Amino acid sequence: MITFRHTPEDYIINISEEIPYWGYIVNDFMLSALKIRNSSESTIELQSIRFRIEHEGKALRIIEFQKEIFKERMNELFRYTPIEEQYPGGLVAYFGVENFWNLDDYVKDLVLEPNQETGFCFEHFKFTDTKLADRLIITLIFDVNGSSSSESYVIPIKQYKNKNQYQFPLKGNWFISGNHHSLWGHRRSCSQEFGWDAIKHDKNLQPYPKGIKNEDVHYYKTEVHAIADGEVVDCYNRLPENPDKGTKLLDDPSKVPQLVSEHGIPTVGTGNFVYIRHAGEEYSFYAHFATNSLKVKKGDKVKQGQVIGLMGNSGNSNSIHLHFHMTSGPNPFIGRGFPCQFTNVYNDMGEKLKHFENDGQLIYAKDS
Ligand SMILES: [Zn+2]
Repeated sequence: MITFRHTPEDYIINISEEIPYWGYIVNDFMLSALKIRNSSESTIELQSIRFRIEHEGKALRIIEFQKEIFKERMNELFRYTPIEEQYPGGLVAYFGVENFWNLDDYVKDLVLEPNQETGFCFEHFKFTDTKLADRLIITLIFDVNGSSSSESYVIPIKQYKNKNQYQFPLKGNWFISGNHHSLWGHRRSCSQEFGWDAIKHDKNLQPYPKGIKNEDVHYYKTEVHAIADGEVVDCYNRLPENPDKGTKLLDDPSKVPQLVSEHGIPTVGTGNFVYIRHAGEEYSFYAHFATNSLKVKKGDKVKQGQVIGLMGNSGNSNSIHLHFHMTSGPNPFIGRGFPCQFTNVYNDMGEKLKHFENDGQLIYAKDS
């Protein structure tokens, strides 16, 4: 009667963290989108939706949206639909799947006529428990032909273990911002869900002022290293850089058509980039390099630690930084993203990190 569809399609990644000494686990996972389609011949009226989060069949948490909240959550998708109108196919970057929504059939209403659909996106779950979440059961309760009915759907929740040993792509101290603790940036895009940006402040740990030229920033053109052995499957080197902190070439509408025709989409956004395939079909993506600074070309075999290019300020970038994310497939924006665990990253207490502990974390990458 109801067709459910969700993304990620196969399973949800729980980027969990163990709390030392206490025996607790922070469960942290996101349902990117849930689509509910009335595939029956009757009109249905949605009453509520229930999320039961389980560990080995036992409930850890049960959360239920009653009508008003349910309807409120439907509004979320409508913040994204203009993207599809502006850039056809643009929603794939968020949901990882082409044509996930049938926007012509989409309604923001609890009453669904046959073949109408609704849903919501970016439902984030984070809670502390002694157990690890391994299953999400979604139950939809609705009225049809004057009686109450329900249907359930199960989505596995898994932890992700990298297939290779990875070294951090930079050396020394870095601020890692926009990592998975920030719910409003990379995390809302399927392939970049666990992506992050690395920046530095000035020598007094103050942010560099707006308008400062790239050349006057002490970490401009820092070497970026391959995180493991692999093959360069794609790269780009020729995009001109933004001139300073806070000014983007993309912000000038008169320049955009020429930038796009010369360099293409998505390069005008990613800036100069390198995309590397590692063993086990894990891919690493590095973006915003300085113009003509790449040390590799498409098809090159690279070694772990090899310099691949110099950090810059190209593309959709507000200041000199390295953007990094890992995905499962040859397209850096369509494959699903997954966490990358590094063997040589420490926090300011000298403790080795499995994952970043907060947004804007200062980390240290040891030479190995
Ligand atoms: Zn980024």
